[in-house]
Amino acid sequence: MELYVHLPFCVRKCRYCDFASFPGLEGSMEAYVGAVLREAELRRDECAGPFRTVYFGGGTPSLLPAGLVGRIMTEARSCFSISPDAEITIECNPESVTEIKLAEYRNAGINRISIGMQSSDDRVLAAIGRIHNKEQFLSAFEKAKNAGFTNINVDIMHGLPGQDADSYLDSIRLASGLGANHISSYALILESGTQLYDDVTAGRVVLPDEDEVADIEDAGFELLSRLGYERYEISNFAKPGFRCRHNLNYWNNGDYLGLGVNAHSALHINGKWVRFANKASIGDFMADLGGGRLPVAETEEVGREEEMFECIMMGLRKTDGVSRAGFKERFGIDPVEQYASAVSAALLTGNMEVTDEAMLLTKRGLDFQNEILLDFM
Ligand code: SF4
Repeated sequence: MELYVHLPFCVRKCRYCDFASFPGLEGSMEAYVGAVLREAELRRDECAGPFRTVYFGGGTPSLLPAGLVGRIMTEARSCFSISPDAEITIECNPESVTEIKLAEYRNAGINRISIGMQSSDDRVLAAIGRIHNKEQFLSAFEKAKNAGFTNINVDIMHGLPGQDADSYLDSIRLASGLGANHISSYALILESGTQLYDDVTAGRVVLPDEDEVADIEDAGFELLSRLGYERYEISNFAKPGFRCRHNLNYWNNGDYLGLGVNAHSALHINGKWVRFANKASIGDFMADLGGGRLPVAETEEVGREEEMFECIMMGLRKTDGVSRAGFKERFGIDPVEQYASAVSAALLTGNMEVTDEAMLLTKRGLDFQNEILLDFM
């Protein structure tokens, strides 16, 4: 079981962002953390753990003033059992990383840092509304290393306005040269409701077209491989031994508890697979916890067929694919047998491989995952 803590504060909304993040609420951080700790208290009996990973995501977790992240970890350890060798990650944005906060993270047992660089090109960063620049990223990375962090991820994006292949490849080279042992390389998804979406639909901003993005991506993924990063999920690359255990649990469709505004959870409760989502409004979230109530917006009991499909959908994101033994242990049937006709179709088109251990997409299949999944549905 894994623990996720959502810290939703940001200085300013990036132009492409549709995450649950809120600018201008710096004055509410302490009260929000108090609400998260009450939520942990209310969940302690049904979710004792042990938690094998903890992940502070956002928002911008590193925006919290020194002391608050350490407080959450202390309280989390008193409410839940957290494995002694747990992977504990915090997302940081370059402009808000300080030596004092990094020392606090280390003291709190945080052992993995994920830095949102997105691009090493200041013009591209400005075009997507990031508030940091390359110099701040370099400084944040050095500070993290000096603080003793040896497990560092860098987030990089492609398909961004004004970004060509060289700019994207330079970002990868920079992260690798500094010593990142994990790189997440996401393609921009243009979400409605964002500033970038409005600019693109109004013709004020032009994005690289699909073919350009595919070419840029191929070049980037090839470079990552040459630099010794193994692609282990559609968008994630790691040096040996540095795969993100927290995210692997999502792709293995494992149990997780999410604390915080708009956080999602999925747990086996009394033999049933249950998903629930917290309220998306920070005011409602805090009001519920202030009144001693869990801030749940919706709860859904997932049926067996759906749970099976989700294991396939998430598992096929990994280059290792879906473990046949693991699926059989969970559902009592081999996935190759359960999805015989979809598997045959994917094998015929060269999109899938089946081994004794796993059912996995080929490199080509990973590019067409959504289409392939329709057959499994
Ligand atoms: S820093 Fe991250 S969460 Fe905050 S606005 Fe930018 S993309 Fe969204």
